[in-house]
Amino acid sequence: MEILLNQATFRKKWTLEQFLDATSDRGLHRVSIWRDDVKPTDVAELSQLLNRAKVQLFGYNRVGPIRYKSDADFETSLEDGERQIDIAAQLGADHILFFTGGLEPGSKDLAGFREKVSEAAKHLSAYAQGAGTVLAIEPLHPMLCGDRTCLTSLKQANDLCDNLGDGAAIVIDVHHVWWDPDLSQQIQRSGEADRIVGFHVNDWLVPTTHLLTDRGMMGDGVIELRKVWDEVSATGYSGSIEVEIFSERWWERDPDEVYDICLSRCRSIFS
Ligand code: ZN
Repeated sequence: MEILLNQATFRKKWTLEQFLDATSDRGLHRVSIWRDDVKPTDVAELSQLLNRAKVQLFGYNRVGPIRYKSDADFETSLEDGERQIDIAAQLGADHILFFTGGLEPGSKDLAGFREKVSEAAKHLSAYAQGAGTVLAIEPLHPMLCGDRTCLTSLKQANDLCDNLGDGAAIVIDVHHVWWDPDLSQQIQRSGEADRIVGFHVNDWLVPTTHLLTDRGMMGDGVIELRKVWDEVSATGYSGSIEVEIFSERWWERDPDEVYDICLSRCRSIFS
C-alpha cells in the first residue's frame, strides 16, 4: 500500500519545490499536483524539478472548468483541456482530473449543462488516451452542484464512464461520496469495470464549517475510512492512497509536521 500526498494539503506554506523536497526527504516517490503552479512555459523546468527530487506524478489537476455559454466558449474549454492533457502526459502523470465547474451565471438548465459535460468528457477522454494518460472523473459532493460541478455521485460517474472509452476512469474521494447509500454498490461497479485510478482520503468534520476549506485529517471526522478502503481494495484496486486535505486549519500548521501526521494517520488506519 502506497501513501502519497496531494500538494493542496500544503497550499499555503510550501512552494512546489519545497513540497517535492519534503517528499523525497521522506523516501517517498510520488505526488499529485495542481495546475496553478504549472504554467505551459515552465513544464520543462518542472520536469527537471521532479527528476531532481526523483519524484513522479500521480494525479495532475486539472482539465476544466467547462464553459459552454457559446460554441466558442465550449471550443476554448476543449482546447484548454487538450493543452492541460498534453502537459500531464509530458510530465508522465498517471491521470489528469476532470473538473466540470458550475452552471453558467444566470442559467438554471442543469440537464443541458450535464449534456455539454458528457460531450466534453467524450472528446477529452479520447484525447487523453491518444496522449498516453487518463481523464479521471471525480464526483464531488452534491452541495457543490451549482458552482463547482454537475457530477455529484459515484453512480453518475460510472454512468458517464460507461459511455466513454478506455481514456476515462474514476477517482474516489471519500469527502465527496461518504454519505451515499449506494456507495458500496457503486464502488463494486467501478471495480468490475476496472476503472478506479485513485483514492483520495481526508475526513468529514461535524460540523463542517466550510464546504471547500474545512476538510478533516483522517480519523478526526465521521467517515468509516477503513471500511471504504476495504471495499475499494476488494475490487482489486492496488493503487495509492492519496491524502488531499483542503483546510484553513491544517494550512496554518507547520507543513513538515502535517506531512508526518498524514502519513502516521494513514498507516494506523489503512495498514
Ligand atoms: Zn479529491
